[in-house]
Amino acid sequence: MLRFNDVADRILEYSPACDLALLQRAYVFSAKVHEGQERLSGEPYLVHPLEVAGILVDLRMDEVTVTAGLLHDTIEDTLTNEEEIRRLFGEPVAFLVAGLTKIAKIEFTSARERQAENFRKMLLAMSKDIRILLIKLADRLHNMRTLQYMPEDARRRVAQETLDIYAPFAHRLGINWMKQELEDLAFRVLKPGVVEELEERLQSQRKAREVYIEEVIGILSKRLADADLQCEVTGRLKDLFSIHAKMESQGLSLDEIYDVIAFRIVIDGLANDVYLGLGIIHSIWRPVPARVKD
Ligand code: MN
Repeated sequence: MLRFNDVADRILEYSPACDLALLQRAYVFSAKVHEGQERLSGEPYLVHPLEVAGILVDLRMDEVTVTAGLLHDTIEDTLTNEEEIRRLFGEPVAFLVAGLTKIAKIEFTSARERQAENFRKMLLAMSKDIRILLIKLADRLHNMRTLQYMPEDARRRVAQETLDIYAPFAHRLGINWMKQELEDLAFRVLKPGVVEELEERLQSQRKAREVYIEEVIGILSKRLADADLQCEVTGRLKDLFSIHAKMESQGLSLDEIYDVIAFRIVIDGLANDVYLGLGIIHSIWRPVPARVKD
């Protein structure tokens, strides 16, 4: 279980001058007002704001945002109010916590038009201060990580909402690891059978694919280096959700999906160096017509 000291140690790594006393006070206050409350997992409620703060630290957020993360459910779920938060923790923290409370009051339903409307309201809240949305995303991520404790119908509703609203927001903000984790967790809830089948099939070829990735990285690195290009080559197996999304959207079977593997080549140089690199790659593997985008 994450402890306050872990959060404190990690924020100090990227923000040595941060106001630890503020964080400490928020932690103690959150513990006090949530006392006696439990998560569906049976754990003390405090675990949740602490994990949310931990995710915000993963995102290297500032002390005000992490403090607001520790307090994010206090106005909504405890006897405290915005005034008290403002008095104890100052305006910047109170602004964020109050903003989150307003988002929490937006009622999400599965109906398409309600979603579009809610989407706009979220955007509106976001445009006031992007940090509100980041805390909301951290909140949703921890809720998704602990979704197994919810009843089945609620679990499906939350997972669908995550796919429709939160994963696209994470994508838009460029937080790819979070987008992928949200999609993966939601996908497992919504289509457990498909996930199981895909995992089984991908698993059986996993080792061979990993060997293949290493081989290709070796070839690319050597050939690009031979041409005196400064480059960095990485490769990965694509995540389940994006493979499935492609199968669905293009009506393909797993065997017909080319890109269960992806490579990324970053070339340090001018445009002509990049085109030179692209030319070298195309001389090793013939490009598929109409699939090459400049
Ligand atoms: Mn929460």
